[in-house]
Amino acid sequence: MIPSIKIPTYLARRPRDARGYPIPYVVQQPRGEAPRFPVVDLDAWRVCVTQRRCALCAREFRGAISTIDGCLITEGVYFIGGPICADNRLFFDPAMCEACARYAIRVCPYLALPSYNRTRGPEAFEGTRHAPSQVVEVASASVKRPARFMLGRAPGYTVRHINGDKLVLARPWLELEWWACGERVE
Ligand SMILES: [Zn+2]
Repeated sequence: MIPSIKIPTYLARRPRDARGYPIPYVVQQPRGEAPRFPVVDLDAWRVCVTQRRCALCAREFRGAISTIDGCLITEGVYFIGGPICADNRLFFDPAMCEACARYAIRVCPYLALPSYNRTRGPEAFEGTRHAPSQVVEVASASVKRPARFMLGRAPGYTVRHINGDKLVLARPWLELEWWACGERVE
């Protein structure tokens, strides 16, 4: 069932899946097939990160300027992750605009985190996904989900190469909220 939460304007322009959910821009969708929610399209990933676009609606962030290692974004950008992401600020998903991030965390954090469950290596990377050469695939839906999610606003991000993977490192948080089951808890 689709919760009765209004889909933000730009996200509402995205195609829908069979359930009625908007299909995030970064989710891989082979031509003529159903979207592969657990799989991130790496071309779309690159577009979002380098052109400073929202991972869900693909809208360009206003007021973004490039820096030597990444970008600064005047209005701030949003990230959703598990508890460890609040500390390490590392994400596989590119940043989101506020409207999309708030929609995703209320309706389904997995919209924003299509391959959230993919974890690997040291615990420090729990809650981030890694990018093999072509696609990032979810391990299994049965992997335990965190009890709560963080929603962070950052003034931009940089790209980090970690163990051969590219991850998005959010700049230090301007604000951090905690959510569980679609409700803000802290
Ligand atoms: Zn957006």
